[in-house]
Amino acid sequence: MKERKILISACLIGEKVKYDGNDNCLNEAIIQQWHEEGVLVPLCPEVLGGLSVPRPACEVVEGTRTVICKTGEDVTYEFDKGAHESLRIAQEEGVVMAILKARSPSCGKDIIYDGSFTSTRVHDSGITCKVLQESGIAVFGEEELALAEAFWNAKGKNPL
Ligand code: SF4
Repeated sequence: MKERKILISACLIGEKVKYDGNDNCLNEAIIQQWHEEGVLVPLCPEVLGGLSVPRPACEVVEGTRTVICKTGEDVTYEFDKGAHESLRIAQEEGVVMAILKARSPSCGKDIIYDGSFTSTRVHDSGITCKVLQESGIAVFGEEELALAEAFWNAKGKNPL
């Protein structure tokens, strides 16, 4: 029987893969517990898509799946590639739920920036978040850890 896993944005567990070369480490006890239990699958879709660390800030153009950098470059291909590579790894690893970094153009769930680089938020999700959700993986934002833990305890942690 295959053990179920939890995908997590790599920057949330301290990997320095953020666009500016830093991390977004959460330092939450439940994340540490899952880490010690070996059920976490950390990955960074933007790095998997071929982008470097550091890299220019990027945003999804409102209402589309086009992604642009602050420098004007179109990085839609890299974001799409990273999202599908993330899904491939998730399926290979038996991932049933994901915990993703808020407001990222890849990982953000429900709220992201609008593509104008003016800190304007819109109701939408990042490219990888959408691809994971479309494949049936339950996605939780980093601010929904209690919900994520309840889901894991109810449905997630039994072997596949
Ligand atoms: Fe973190 Fe996701 Fe951005 Fe990678 S793409 S740095 S995992 S928020």
